[in-house]
Amino acid sequence: MTTNANQRRLRVRLFSLLVSACVSLPAAFAGAEEIAIYAGQLFDSERGQLLPGRTIHIADGRIQSVQAGFAKRARERLVDLRGYTVLPGLMDMHTHLAYEFGPRTYTETFTWNAADYALRGADTARRTLEAGFTTVRDLGDRDNVTVSLRNAINAGTIAGPRIFTAGKSIATTGGHADPTNGHRQSLMGSPGPAEGVVNGSDSARQAVRQRYKDGADLIKITATGGVLSVAKSGQNPQFMPDELEAIVKTAKDYGFTVAVHAHGKEGMERAIRAGVDSIEHGTYMDSETMDLMKRHNTWYVPTILAGEWVTEKSAVDGFFPEVVRSKAATIGPQIQNTFAEAYKRGVKIAFGTDSGVSRHGDNGREFELMVRAGMTPADAIRSATWNAAQLLNAEDQLGSIAPGRHADIIAVKGDPLQDISALQRVRFVMKGGKVFKPLRAGD
Ligand SMILES: [Zn+2]
Repeated sequence: MTTNANQRRLRVRLFSLLVSACVSLPAAFAGAEEIAIYAGQLFDSERGQLLPGRTIHIADGRIQSVQAGFAKRARERLVDLRGYTVLPGLMDMHTHLAYEFGPRTYTETFTWNAADYALRGADTARRTLEAGFTTVRDLGDRDNVTVSLRNAINAGTIAGPRIFTAGKSIATTGGHADPTNGHRQSLMGSPGPAEGVVNGSDSARQAVRQRYKDGADLIKITATGGVLSVAKSGQNPQFMPDELEAIVKTAKDYGFTVAVHAHGKEGMERAIRAGVDSIEHGTYMDSETMDLMKRHNTWYVPTILAGEWVTEKSAVDGFFPEVVRSKAATIGPQIQNTFAEAYKRGVKIAFGTDSGVSRHGDNGREFELMVRAGMTPADAIRSATWNAAQLLNAEDQLGSIAPGRHADIIAVKGDPLQDISALQRVRFVMKGGKVFKPLRAGD
């Protein structure tokens, strides 16, 4: 009897412990802890300038206030970044977390399952976050693995950036994102809207609605040929105006923005006229195209890093199939020149790397390429913070260190306005008030 009563008491005690643990968990995940960050210098992304000596007050994963000088409140835990430049978390508007290009990429299609791509995504997402990128757009995956990746990251199961994903890109038959390009006939099948292949305005609408059903955050289309697909042209137009119009109008019904892969002028201009939100790569845009973008308020996401990477690999025998190699050698080097022109002409620019072509975690190199092409370091950083937040329609949540925003905060040593390469050596990463990369001793 006594033993039974003791066991019962023990069980009740264990149960109540469990309940109290469960009750306190959501609070812990919301980052209820109050934190003060001492910032040696703070990058003001809305104005593009460095401010000396600031204290950032954080509670519930959000920035509460920013004050001049160093003054922490008694209840706050201190993160001392007085020896560092503190910036908003960086935002890459063009990544592919499910992919990482290499000599085996063209055979992976036949040997990998959805789970293999998803597990790769868990690794690439962590590397991206540790490189200082707290938000990304994912512009094309397969099997919706980045939808699951986004959900797992949001649930706190794995470490990674905030993801805004397009799911599977939408192409036309044989277009850049047709998933069966280059396959032998018996394996080609006839992919349709669910797989992201459309022909005509009805199937274009169906593909957009399918992305909504899949849980995507935005739409990505491939309006012209591309470099890495096994197909002849890297720049032919691949959508008709009625298909583009159907996509843009349907996307608006669901609150989706539309991101457009484009190298050739004609396909790009059709998309801009249809009212898309961003042009990715934009390699062969000319002054007419740039003026059209300004009139339509279209963003440009240059991805110079991808251009550099494919140019470099095109020199390596056997790295690419021959049909890809010649496109890589001509299209790759052009992107930097286009970017320089577009910047001078005043086209709105948001930062994007196309990582997954180059290695995930090397995203910060894009800053150096932008500055080398003539952009000021302050504008380059703004393109990856304030501008990117505007492209996402999330400037009240992301992209600056100001009250009400998520506490997505990074730190680098030195002055990135003097040496932009500092952004390739991010020393501290916080996302939503939680530290994912602490300072290391000796940093
Ligand atoms: Zn891409």
